[in-house]
Amino acid sequence: DEQEKVLVARQPKSSRLQARAVRSLAGGTTSSWQIHRPQPIWVSHGSGSKVYDVDGNEYVDLHNGYGAMLVGHGHPLVVEAIANRARAGTHFAQPTEDAVVVAEDLAQRFGLPLWRYGNSGTEATMDAVHLMRAISSRDKIIKIEGSYHGHHDSVQVSVYQEMPEIGPPHAPRSVPASSGIPRAIVDQTLVVPFNEIDVLERVLRDHPGEIAGMIIEPVMMNIGIIPPAPGYLERVRQLTREHGVLLAFDEVKTGFTTGPGGVTRLYGVVPDIVCLAKSLGGGVPCGAIGGSDEVMSFIANGGYDQVGTFNGNPLTMAAARAVLTQILDDGAYSRLDALREEMVAGCEEIIGKYELPAYVRAIGAKGAVIFSPTEIQGYRDFLTVDNRFSHAHWLYQLNNGVFLPPWGKAEQWTLSVQHTSEDVQRFITNFRRFAEALS
Ligand code: PLP
Repeated sequence: DEQEKVLVARQPKSSRLQARAVRSLAGGTTSSWQIHRPQPIWVSHGSGSKVYDVDGNEYVDLHNGYGAMLVGHGHPLVVEAIANRARAGTHFAQPTEDAVVVAEDLAQRFGLPLWRYGNSGTEATMDAVHLMRAISSRDKIIKIEGSYHGHHDSVQVSVYQEMPEIGPPHAPRSVPASSGIPRAIVDQTLVVPFNEIDVLERVLRDHPGEIAGMIIEPVMMNIGIIPPAPGYLERVRQLTREHGVLLAFDEVKTGFTTGPGGVTRLYGVVPDIVCLAKSLGGGVPCGAIGGSDEVMSFIANGGYDQVGTFNGNPLTMAAARAVLTQILDDGAYSRLDALREEMVAGCEEIIGKYELPAYVRAIGAKGAVIFSPTEIQGYRDFLTVDNRFSHAHWLYQLNNGVFLPPWGKAEQWTLSVQHTSEDVQRFITNFRRFAEALS
């Protein structure tokens, strides 16, 4: 409570803007997950690794727009690409050359030959689900309990909420994640726990000829960070193939942040479809699906109409081209690796010294201090974690110039190519003082 008061005292203009906003924006903000205590951070601008609120407070940005800003704010090459495109027209509903360059680059990175674009991660996973259903002429899909794949009906199932009626751990019920999701659609989504291959095997066996495909985030990133157990992704690939079920990797979060070709390349397991968004567009709304010849020929032949007014939008494509071909090269990933190691080493030293009930998980540019004494293995564990530590830590960092994602226990930090060791040290210093204050 004390830290919330400190924050509000530092943000008088933000408070006034918030009071004004509730009269014209539902809930006083632009997305429901921007509503959090004590108030949203009303941003004036971002530059490099920093963001500034309307009160002039500076923050090292480790939220990074839910990880979309892997290239950092106002990257000169992205700015140039966007400015050039803005002058030359931003929308024609016809393809531009940049769309081909981006697809060629994505094919190299993810090992899948054919691509299409949309405007968000939600559209990417929606297209993937539609495509799997269209190809198989089946309705059911499998998803992982607790995985977030965007806000379309088929995947708004068994995610995020504290739910009393979720069934036993090895036979989870499919529960709508919010109101407004028809039961009839929820019933088409079968839910299995992450890293539990036996349950997946049973579900596949129990529904012969009924399941179109499976969608999975190959490293879970919406309930902290949970990597796949050794061999798990390989078995998922093998089992889905054996049962004639298509496999889509949701790499909306992991796509470029975990490495140049996401988890797909990192683990060497190639799905039928990859879904991308977030950091692909360097801060411009974006989404993409990539697939095998076999799968994507279904789009090419008109078996599934993958459409959208803004698909392949020239502004997005220009930004994505700069991101992929000019910024996210091997050197960028080496620098991100070095920063991650500095973050992890600093956090682990503090956790050890102050005997905090916490641990660190990090992969690529992503990482999190997870305030749980034991390792979170899946959604059930996640639901039992007390969010108060994460929220207190979030507030403490914010009041001392570091902006982490709110919803502490679920989200993680994202480093950008413009972050420096100095930025990392600001976070570490705050974490040390927070740990001191706790003990
Ligand atoms: N998939 C994953 C793994 C995500 O984390 C998100 C968003 O956080 C989405 C899909 C949806 O993306 P968007 O918010 O762009 O619709």
